Amino acid sequence: MDPRVQQFMAMIKAKNPGENEFHQAVQEVSESLIPFIEENPKYKHAKILERIAEPERTLIFRVPWLDDKGEVQINRGFRIEMNSAIGPYKGGLRFHPTVNLGILKFLAFEQVFKNSLTTLPMGGGKGGSDFDPKGKSDNEVMRFCQSFMTELFRHIGADTDVPAGDIGVGGREIGFLFGQYKRLKNEFTGVLTGKGIEWGGSLIRPEATGYGNTYFAQEMLATRGQNFEGKTVCISGSGNVAQYATEKVTQLGGKVVTSSDSNGFIYDPKGIDAEKLKYIMDLKNIRRGRIKEYAEKFGVEYFESKRPWVIKCDIAMPCATQNEINEEEAKLLVKNGCTCVSEGSNMPSIPEAVIVFLNAKILYGPGKAANAGGVATSGLEMTQNSMRLPWSSEEVDQRLHSIMKNIHSTCVKYGTKDDGFINYVDGANIGGFVKVANAMIAQGVV
Ligand code: NDP
Repeated sequence: MDPRVQQFMAMIKAKNPGENEFHQAVQEVSESLIPFIEENPKYKHAKILERIAEPERTLIFRVPWLDDKGEVQINRGFRIEMNSAIGPYKGGLRFHPTVNLGILKFLAFEQVFKNSLTTLPMGGGKGGSDFDPKGKSDNEVMRFCQSFMTELFRHIGADTDVPAGDIGVGGREIGFLFGQYKRLKNEFTGVLTGKGIEWGGSLIRPEATGYGNTYFAQEMLATRGQNFEGKTVCISGSGNVAQYATEKVTQLGGKVVTSSDSNGFIYDPKGIDAEKLKYIMDLKNIRRGRIKEYAEKFGVEYFESKRPWVIKCDIAMPCATQNEINEEEAKLLVKNGCTCVSEGSNMPSIPEAVIVFLNAKILYGPGKAANAGGVATSGLEMTQNSMRLPWSSEEVDQRLHSIMKNIHSTCVKYGTKDDGFINYVDGANIGGFVKVANAMIAQGVV
């Protein structure tokens, strides 16, 4: 490791003990940025890297609620307000039992660079709770969301901090959260994104992360004169991002052969077509069942406690969670002929896996660039809310597509090496950094 990165990381680890995912995210970014900062000393003198790695504000709060049996349950709520140099804090809420401070700080940190890449005026934040919506009734989820918002409402606002969904927070949860915010503030404002279409939401927001990831992969493929037509694609996850990535890839002529959840994955060699995807959407969004049921319904293989990366594919699109591709899986993907990895989830590849992809010089699009379509469209939802004027799906989709193309161009600008190889990791980290860093310098030592 570069001794300058080592020294910086020693400081980060000492200041943030036990926050492993946060260390991982900061290290990945600092490996790209420290050499860049050395060449641009104004960032060094202003200690931008040290400042950017320290949240502006961290909120941790108690979330008590009553379950259906009348028993008191206590969860922990968080909001990390990471950086507001270029706009109000913006980033999702995650409800999952694994949620802790380190995971949310990693996500908030990534969000700062991602939001900057979108070209829209959004700072970075992230929040959530260790609450598990799985197996809870709608009423329990509602009571939890109301209690969560009863504390969070005083810290957020349309011009201050605008949360959205993430793992475990979809349309249902955003509805309950928005209802409680409105009740407490007596205000109908765009304080959350991912809202329902009838009450301030944007068309294409549900599709945006999966579609955007596919558009980004399309741009990467085009640099090598390729496209999705006839390609075999492995996708992990079966939630929001995975569903719409599957839809768009299929529309573009690719064949998606896997879908997964935290229990295992299914392999459908004939491809998950529109009909089968409809089944997954009903299974996951309405019936809230397990992906195993797909295997029973369509007579395909199910692999318990396994991830899809053992299946031969041309393109891999991880869309479940962080650290879901390890070094061996990365090697296997490359060995099996995979030439493009486009990350729908945040930080799905462990650092050793990223090195495998970069050394093999395949097309590797890191999450902060490839999955930025979700937050970009949240930004478009904020614009529509401010104008009080909704756009058509075509208009939003077209803006999303053009934002993904711009993000790709930024990565090419900052990530192209002397031999012509595009290192999208460097491209996204440096491209996302410059705007935020310049704004921080302009705003003084704050
Ligand atoms: P959902 O909750 O809709 O779906 C998550 C999917 O991933 C589910 O299939 C879930 O399975 C699976 N999953 C979750 N945790 C694990 C785990 N620990 N191991 C294996 N599988 C797991 O979330 P989203 O689709 O919204 O988010 C997926 C990823 O995309 C996350 O990394 C998120 O941060 C990222 N992302 C999301 C955006 C958005 O707009 N929604 C925007 C940008 C990034 P199960 O049902 O068993 O839990």
